[in-house]
Amino acid sequence: MIRVGVDPRSYGKQSIWFTGSGVRSTEIGYHALVSYQVLARSWRPQRFADLLGQEAVVQTLQNALTAGALGHAYLFSGLRGVGKTTAARLLAKAVNCVDGPTAEPCGECVSCREITDGASIDVVEIDAATHTGVDQVRELQELLRFRPTRDRYRVVVVDEVHMLSKSAFNALLKSIEEPPPYVLWVFATTERHKVPATILSRCQQLEFRPLGNDTIRTHLETIAAREGFELSPGAAATIAGAAQGSVRDALSLLDQLRAFAAGSIDDEAVTAVLGVPSFEVTSGLVDALADGRVAEALSTLRSELAAGHDAAILYQEIGRTLRSLLHLAVAPDLEPALTEDQRQRLQPAAAGLGPDALTRMLGLWLEQEPMLRDTVNRELALEVAALRLARWPAVQRIEAWLAGGTAAPADGAPPVPGSAEPRHDGPPPRGAAAADAAVPSDLAAALWSDHPRLAAAVDAAQVAVDGPVVTLRFPTAAAASARYAASDEARGPLEGACRRVFQGAIEVRVDVETAAADLGCAVEALLAEARRDPGIELARTVIGGEIVSVRPDEGA
Ligand SMILES: [Zn+2]
Repeated sequence: MIRVGVDPRSYGKQSIWFTGSGVRSTEIGYHALVSYQVLARSWRPQRFADLLGQEAVVQTLQNALTAGALGHAYLFSGLRGVGKTTAARLLAKAVNCVDGPTAEPCGECVSCREITDGASIDVVEIDAATHTGVDQVRELQELLRFRPTRDRYRVVVVDEVHMLSKSAFNALLKSIEEPPPYVLWVFATTERHKVPATILSRCQQLEFRPLGNDTIRTHLETIAAREGFELSPGAAATIAGAAQGSVRDALSLLDQLRAFAAGSIDDEAVTAVLGVPSFEVTSGLVDALADGRVAEALSTLRSELAAGHDAAILYQEIGRTLRSLLHLAVAPDLEPALTEDQRQRLQPAAAGLGPDALTRMLGLWLEQEPMLRDTVNRELALEVAALRLARWPAVQRIEAWLAGGTAAPADGAPPVPGSAEPRHDGPPPRGAAAADAAVPSDLAAALWSDHPRLAAAVDAAQVAVDGPVVTLRFPTAAAASARYAASDEARGPLEGACRRVFQGAIEVRVDVETAAADLGCAVEALLAEARRDPGIELARTVIGGEIVSVRPDEGA
């Protein structure tokens, strides 16, 4: 294979160089460091069937090859390291194979072997990143005037095509518009939006997908087994996560780890080399944040940062764990990349928090991303993000209070189930202002897991027990809560809870205090009421702000 490009090792004016190894220029420096062949090379797919995770692309190309309906120019776009160049070489083999054009090249014939070895004279690869000028495109056009030396096609692979200069694109355009029948263009790009529309419209475009974590993880485990080194399931999962969809990145990381931990790559080796926090640390952090244990969370963050972990990576890993929790809460099948141990570790938290809370938490966490990206002090930004997430239980409590304390919809229907209902097994942490009302707390606690809205409503009441009669006295401001507590819908659960908590009480009465019923002094009374209200107090502490006005509730 001829590589047209600037050899990074030479400082001369050499513009065309030959390599028999097919090693990408970016890999050369790295290749020299290690004595064995890098995995990305030794595991480069030699058949379409081995191309990882690009079934749609493979099927399109194979159909075209089988039907003899191959285009003359293709554009492969997608993330780095997902198989674009590999697919281009496979396509070159498929058209030039002695059995070809064929949907699956034989891999044995002279042409196939030369392309595999990077020695085919009819397959030209251009790295547009180092080769952006119009002159080089003209040189190439000279070459394309001649029929292939031996094979059917001259295949020209232009990598990172979006890097070409405008004049180079214009020169190229003519060649793509009216190519000789023996020329096959394959353009590859990580940034399709930078490729001019004039080029795009003349190409068949194929989008390469990022690889799923589970696909990469399985691939890594296969490689480890075949190459005869140990790779712990946790390590494979972490590498797959860090590679972010790029199989080449995953294999590079695996190379690094193989050099670091000869023969056996475990979770600790991954933590040390990749600088990612261990799964235990991240999941412990998320637990602490979800429970509002601020001091513990901050202390863990401090020690991770002190151990040299990058704030952005910590942020990313916490986000990833939240996402795993959400997936587990929605449908465990969504998270195939987790190991069984990790799944068991996360499952209780996923079930306890539930999909609604986790969606909100993940949203809250992602909102902080610009701060992590832009700020010069990322560690501070990370702590702020953690603090905001740790306020979550308090926010949840406000929401529950609002759900129970505001007027029900006009048709009397309860709020949409699941919209704001916390799924905690127990009552949420309480603000100091709510702590004095011990009895309603017990009643609310008994209701919390199954009837959170009712629990929040009851929380606003004074509870008096007189023999078999339980009376809930609501302040005027909480008239809506009172109405809800007195509703038919609430009666059954409320009586059941009273029976359990007060051992035998069976009649429940709901009263609304009438001291402020005279509308003349209602606003003053409501204002005073609002100031005393634990929910409003909590809202003021958490989100800041002042009570601006109070309106009597209609129908109160
Ligand atoms: Zn062949």
